[in-house]
Order: sequence, then C-alpha cells, then structure tokens
Amino acid sequence: MKKQLSLFGITVFAIYSTIAQANTTNNDQSSSTLSVASDPSFNTCMAELKPSALRSGVSSEIFDRYTRNLIPDYSVLDKLNYQPEFSTPIWDYLSGLVDDERVSTGKQKLNQYQDVLRRVSAVYGVPAEMVVAVWGVESNFGDISGKYPLLQSLGTLSCNGRRQSYFRTEFFATLRILQRGDVTESQLKGSWAGAFGHTQFMPSTYERLAVDFDGDGRRDLVSSTNDALASTANFLKSAGWQTGMPWGFEVSVPNNIDLTGQSRRNKKPLSYWVTQGLTRIDGRPLRQEPLNDATPAGLFMPAGAQGPKFLVFKNFDAIYSYNAAESYALAIAYLSDRLSGKPVIQTAWPTDDPGTSRAERREIQNNLLAKGYDIGQADGLIGDKTKQAIQKEQIKMGLPPTGRAGQVFLNAIRKNNTIQTINSPQ
Ligand code: CA
Repeated sequence: MKKQLSLFGITVFAIYSTIAQANTTNNDQSSSTLSVASDPSFNTCMAELKPSALRSGVSSEIFDRYTRNLIPDYSVLDKLNYQPEFSTPIWDYLSGLVDDERVSTGKQKLNQYQDVLRRVSAVYGVPAEMVVAVWGVESNFGDISGKYPLLQSLGTLSCNGRRQSYFRTEFFATLRILQRGDVTESQLKGSWAGAFGHTQFMPSTYERLAVDFDGDGRRDLVSSTNDALASTANFLKSAGWQTGMPWGFEVSVPNNIDLTGQSRRNKKPLSYWVTQGLTRIDGRPLRQEPLNDATPAGLFMPAGAQGPKFLVFKNFDAIYSYNAAESYALAIAYLSDRLSGKPVIQTAWPTDDPGTSRAERREIQNNLLAKGYDIGQADGLIGDKTKQAIQKEQIKMGLPPTGRAGQVFLNAIRKNNTIQTINSPQ
C-alpha cells in the first residue's frame, strides 16, 4: 500500500517500501522517540482503540501485553508528512534499482534457491525470475527490510496524523499476527509505515496472502526465504497473474501516431497496435505466441512521448499492484528481464544526464565525504542529506542545482577531485 503523487510533470513516489524510502528520505536513523516512560494522550488513545481491536479478533490479553509498555515514535509522523524536495526522474529510479550489481546478485539468488523457486513456479504459475525481481526491488533480497518496530510505528500512526483509520487496520493486523505466533515481536521491524520482511508486505497483506511454504506451520516472511518467495508468487497470482504471459516489452512506435491518452490502463486489443504500425523494439512483429489479436495491451510511456515505450499486458498490472507505482513496477519487470538474459532498454531516456548505478552513487558519496560533507555512510542510497550536499557542490561548480546524483555530476566531481589531487602536495 503506497502512495503516488506527481510533481513538476515528473512522477515521483512517496512509497513505503524500504529501498524506496531510503531513496526519498534521510538516511540517518535518528529518531525522536520520547524517552519518557509514558505518554498520557497516547495511552488514552490505546485504551480507546481496545474495543475495536477486540472486535477485529485481537484478544484482550494480547492487546494488553503488547500495548502496555508501548511508547510512541513521533519521527514516523515526519515520514508520513514528508514531501520530497527533489523530483526523481524515472531513469534515476531505474538506474539504481536495476544495476549490474543487482542483476548479478539476483542471478546468484536464482541459482541458490533454484529448487524452491521451481516448486514455487509450479504451484503459483509465476516465473522464478519475476519472484526474485520483486524480492530484489522490495528488500534487496532481504538485506534491507526496515528498522522500525512495527507496533511502535503503527501504534503511533494509529493515534496521530492523517491516515489513522488505515494504520489502525494495520496495527490490529500486527497484533493478530503476534497472536497467531507466526513471528515474534522482535522480528516485526519494517519501514516506518509497517511494510516488513523479505517481501515488504503490510500486516494486512501478510494476513491475506502470506503462505507457509517450508511446512513448519508458521508463515514467516522475516526469516524463511522459502515462505517469502512463495508468498510473493502468491501475491502476484492473487493480483491476476496470467501464467505463461509476458509482462510486456519495449516497442518501436511510428512517429505519426497520436499518443494522446495512451497509458498502461488504456488497454486495446493487440491487433489495434499492429494496425498502428508498432513492432517490438528489435523489429519483430508484436503478435507472437502466446499473444493473439485480442490480447489487451496498453502503451506505457514512463518518460512521455520522447522516451522508451512499452506495450504492457495484464501481468504488468499484477506487478503494479505490489506497490502501486509505475516506476517500481517497471523496475521489477525490467529486473526480471535482465535476470532472464533479455537485453537492456534500447531507447535512450530523454535526458542529457542519465542516472547512476549504486556503485557510481557510492563513488559520488565517497567524494562528498572526502570534501567534508556529513552525509552518513556511502551506501549508494541517495537521501536528502546527499542531495543537499550535491546541490551545494553543483552551485560551486556552476551546474544547475538539481541535487541529482546523475552522470553529469559524477563526471564533474571526478574531474574536480583529480584537480584537487594534482594540486595537493603529497
Ligand atoms: Ca514456514
């Protein structure tokens, strides 16, 4: 469950997945958690929530046990109200989420988990590469699954801020998960908004779609990779995944086509696109098995008419429902292609300043650290502190102060540091 907004004509995303969060917010984990033992208004709110929690199936004993010593963490309200200062173009998202490093790690995971992935594909009808791609984009294959204790963040959001009703549902779901004993309280850490584990499911999604695939009787998306992979496939299946069908592919579109109103959602029969003169980007015809004239297809243009264009099918919508952001759906789809050995996106993005890989972002961050900027660790995740440091350097360099960690800035800071090295006495 994530939220999307549009800024300056570029789609940007305030979404709750952990990697995405690291991309859009401060990297530092400082928290304004109150150190006081109790917070009267919070305690009053919890007492008021109890009858609703009980009606939702939480036992009185469980509710008391997990809320008795709960202390609010008001830092999550800053995250809830966070408005990105900087817009993030699609090519920045993609270059960080689908870089050679993630493709390489993904291939290792495909190999390491090939047996369970084979069984998962047989049961749910979703290809291994797609399951692993979701895993890679959502939590970097389980590496980054969030640090916020769920009860604390969801409890705080249940009593404060502008989406209390939504977060209460998730708070109660968290209590029911603990009541069933699927995972322990200490395992329940996630993004500030409550997405947790390998799959970054919200608690209510967990209740609905998590599966016990390793057969130990518990649905454990925190420490069981088998459960996590199967649950991801189960999510896609329940979202309408069509076995054997592609998500989509890059297309070549004749210049004289009116693209007004075309979108992922605006699907037309494949025959329509054939008559419009579209082909696959490599020139092959659109209509090949398993597609036929009637297959519904939408023209998805993530960067508008000038950038890469994709014909997308129902399976792209299934991926989209995983985190309700087209840029992330494309990242997952594209990573799955790369894991399958398919080529990179052929059409250039409409920019003279393409995005950077995580390795290049770490290089930028190391250069900024060397210049004395307090940006935390060089983790390849571009948070606001890094963006502000980039902006300051861009101003010094006479570049437009976009705050973007793009190729232009990478090259500029490389040259800049070379000059400094030559000039500094050894
Ligand atoms: Ca299990």
